[in-house]
Amino acid sequence: MVGQKNAKIWNFFKIVNVDGIEFRKCLISSKCKLLPTPKDSSTGNMINHLKSSGHEAALKEYHKEGTNEESTIVNFG
Ligand SMILES: [Zn+2]
Repeated sequence: MVGQKNAKIWNFFKIVNVDGIEFRKCLISSKCKLLPTPKDSSTGNMINHLKSSGHEAALKEYHKEGTNEESTIVNFG
């Protein structure tokens, strides 16, 4: 399930269904590859994608609102 704390990440992704398999599609660039949906539905790979793909504006936006302490972002999902 998508935790509320991490729901914001979905501002930058959407679910797409390819041959019955759900992937996460980055909305920032059409050049980005689809990300797999982990079994535990964790949002980690989306956050990693923002980092590794240089989506710094999105990453900032993700960290900006909703949480006051940076340390709460990782552990609560
Ligand atoms: Zn991307």
